[in-house]
Amino acid sequence: LNALKQADPEVFEILEAEDARQHDTIRLIASENYTSRAVMEATGSRLTNKYSEGYPGKRYYQGQAYTDRVENLAIERARELFGADHVNIQPYSGSPANLAVFYAMLEPGDKVLGMGLPFGGHLTHGWKVSFSGRFYDAHAYAVDETTETIDYDAVARQAREIRPKMLICGASAYPRTIDFERFAEIAREVDAILLADIAHISGLVAGGVHPSPVPVADIVTTTTHKTLRGPRSGMIMCTSEHASAIDRAIFPGLQGGPHMNQIAAAAVAFGEALTPDFKHYAQQVVDNARVLADALQSQGLRLVTGGTDNHLVLVDLTPRGLGGRAAAIALEKAGVVVNSNSIPFDKRKPFDPSGIRIGTAAITTRGMGEDAMRQIADFMARALDNIDNDDTLSGIRSDVEAFCRDFPIP
Ligand code: PLP
Repeated sequence: LNALKQADPEVFEILEAEDARQHDTIRLIASENYTSRAVMEATGSRLTNKYSEGYPGKRYYQGQAYTDRVENLAIERARELFGADHVNIQPYSGSPANLAVFYAMLEPGDKVLGMGLPFGGHLTHGWKVSFSGRFYDAHAYAVDETTETIDYDAVARQAREIRPKMLICGASAYPRTIDFERFAEIAREVDAILLADIAHISGLVAGGVHPSPVPVADIVTTTTHKTLRGPRSGMIMCTSEHASAIDRAIFPGLQGGPHMNQIAAAAVAFGEALTPDFKHYAQQVVDNARVLADALQSQGLRLVTGGTDNHLVLVDLTPRGLGGRAAAIALEKAGVVVNSNSIPFDKRKPFDPSGIRIGTAAITTRGMGEDAMRQIADFMARALDNIDNDDTLSGIRSDVEAFCRDFPIP
């Protein structure tokens, strides 16, 4: 970052500090990762300078020889990775991808049925404060109160009652496998379009450690920056039947010029995800989550659903008499970065809910394995036992920094 250091020492200093933070802390935010240097180089490339409204071969401006090549490459690699008929790689991120699906497939006021935010769903799946809950007649399904997992028969009953035009599955905070086949059956029965949002788990799907919604869902959206370990971006995959509606919804419906630097970086990430190394990575993410979940349970913590099948673990702090927010703040003081999160049927408020959400995508990229997971559970339990003791928390932080030195970041 020599040029930046010369031109803008103030921003340079902030970025250096963020680098150090990413190195010295245990990053357990379930939606985060570390991309490769190659992905970062493509993100910071001169494609940032290029306008490319339209699609490969059908652009509105000249000078597209290389943008067309790189967008086609990203699309071809994504199709190979997920087996999709059609790929649109232009959504700026996950939320715009979902917005585009609504825009393409529905009219304002149409009924949708998605997983409620308090149960693990995303804002864009019909929650009131988002466009999806404001402009559509949005209904939510919950999880079963006892098992804390999706009750597919209950979703089917609700779908029969509501008859949504679109059924949405996929989540931001659901630690269990999602049965896309069963969702597809429900959608078929009520004649609904099925949207599967795999933003969180797309790296696990690509790596073959979570069932794929392609081709059982009509439309699949994802981010490219979570378990898939690419740049901040979004993608829509669909059957050929919906291809032109989706493309028109993205451009000219909702977006202008695509961010070609992001698209090039996504192509790089998809290339990486097609390698055998990525399959091992995805398996290790899931194995690590399981070991971390077991170790946290051994430390006396209660896990929502009792464990995990994927990259994330949701901890209910109620039995410890702690709120999620205070816990997340104390953990950060100890060098362990998580987010507070609602748990199903939470009695506390969303800004200070009862849980914390943790994920293993980023720490697995650093090469942390199962012994490291047990060590992390130990750091966490010590911090949670001492949330009001700043001296103890800063002692743990020193231990965490020493621990992190063994695991370089890309
Ligand atoms: N969909 C799901 C399931 C998510 O978890 C997220 C982000 O957390 C999104 C969509 C939105 O992605 P973005 O933050 O890139 O807009």
